[in-house]
Amino acid sequence: MRTDLFINNEWRPAASGKRFPVENPATEELLADVALGDAADVDSAALAARACFESDGWRGLSARKRGRLLTKAADLLESRLDEFARLETAHNGKTLFESKIELTMTVNTMRYYGGWADKITGDTLPVDGPFLCYTLREPVGVVGAIVPWNFPLNIASWKFAPALAAGCTIVLKPASETPLTALAVADVLLEAGFPPGAFNVVPGGGSTAGAALVRHPDIDKISFTGSTEVGRQVMRMAAESNKRVTLELGGKSPNVIFADADIPAAVKGAQTGIFYGKGEVCAAGSRLLIEEQVHDQVVEQLAAGAKKLTPGDPLDKNTRLGALVSRKQQETVLSYIKKGVEEGASIVAGGKAVQPNGKGYYVEATVFDGVTPEMTIAREEIFGPVLAVLTFKDFDEGVKLANRSMYGLAAGIWTRDIQKAHRAARAIRAGTVWINSYNVYDSGAPFGGFKASGFGRDLGRDALDGYLETKTVWVGL
Ligand code: NAD
Repeated sequence: MRTDLFINNEWRPAASGKRFPVENPATEELLADVALGDAADVDSAALAARACFESDGWRGLSARKRGRLLTKAADLLESRLDEFARLETAHNGKTLFESKIELTMTVNTMRYYGGWADKITGDTLPVDGPFLCYTLREPVGVVGAIVPWNFPLNIASWKFAPALAAGCTIVLKPASETPLTALAVADVLLEAGFPPGAFNVVPGGGSTAGAALVRHPDIDKISFTGSTEVGRQVMRMAAESNKRVTLELGGKSPNVIFADADIPAAVKGAQTGIFYGKGEVCAAGSRLLIEEQVHDQVVEQLAAGAKKLTPGDPLDKNTRLGALVSRKQQETVLSYIKKGVEEGASIVAGGKAVQPNGKGYYVEATVFDGVTPEMTIAREEIFGPVLAVLTFKDFDEGVKLANRSMYGLAAGIWTRDIQKAHRAARAIRAGTVWINSYNVYDSGAPFGGFKASGFGRDLGRDALDGYLETKTVWVGL
């Protein structure tokens, strides 16, 4: 297991010599002592990435060669998929079933952007006058990527794959809870043949290593995924040096079930919408909005399903609900459950912490009925397996309720009426709308937020734009 910093293709301890513990949240066992990066290490990594960028060590390679290296790294990662999935489960607590899905997506993302590398082009423009005018698409420079703990390697790949494809070099700071797969993937890139400085990993604290990365003068762009609160701080700090910023932040996504929906399918969608990844998912469908006529029927089926979804050993291939990432996160989730009860909502499934094996930070799949829009559990991101059920009377009220949030990351719509589905998809202000489906992702489909859920996009062609500058060239004829 790799536990040192990865800078300039070398494994190094932190300059301070400090290390920090990484725990398995399902067993409460110590998994590893990882080098604790701080401002000095971020400085070394940023300088290595800058030197690689300026020397053309990476962007100077032909676009085809860069693409081939990314594709080769994807192949190598795929050959070690099971090992990586186990490591992801070990530090995050998510089920092996989920880790395998996400590792597959990571491989796909690396391949997808490997394919893009030699297809990034500018335009020739039909301008007035005796001129040839064209645009070049150039890498933005050195990228600082800061990622959360919920999809540790997958979200990291949403950043490093398009950045590297565009010709940028990168310093990646994983979350302190889950640094192990980000470090392990450095070995994969090293083996694939990436040059020194192209890809660097510095685990460390948010307010130390993370803030140092955002402030560093050799970083041109910050790509951040995390909470809305920290996102605001990142934006403020980045403004001091005019850094480009992409923010993928929190959510409180509505999953809207109209009375004419295929109810069993909608119930299943509502369940995976909130309980996949233990609800520690930015796009979790944490507000379930049900049209009045079908409320009782949906809630009954949902509660029955949630009661069957018992938390268990994440390494068991049949487990579908793992452990929350940390004791702190478990406490946060339990405090929201308490608040939901205090404010008058009623629990129809779950509601408690459990320990299937006598250890670990598990919370039952929890469903609250009778939630009103003013309640805390209807407004704030809980980031756990807790669903808030609200009702609405008609289309307009449903859409209004869906939009009644500071967030706008994702939404689900369940109906058999195709016109209604498209009307709702247009009316709801969110970066992703799923119709008769939920939590579906693809490397080619852009993902990101409206409103307080951030700006810029990960994935798809759109993400590349975040790592490119446009240069306009005029030639007098
Ligand atoms: P967080 O904001 O606490 O931390 C995210 C990252 O930022 C971590 O690496 C952390 O160390 C770092 N950080 C913390 N303080 C910092 C600072 N002052 N300067 C620089 N970096 C700092 O978020 P989290 O608890 O790790 O993750 C959960 C949050 O992430 C949720 O709000 C969730 O919705 C969001 N999220 C969003 C998306 C998306 O695509 N929109 C995806 C996953 C998670």
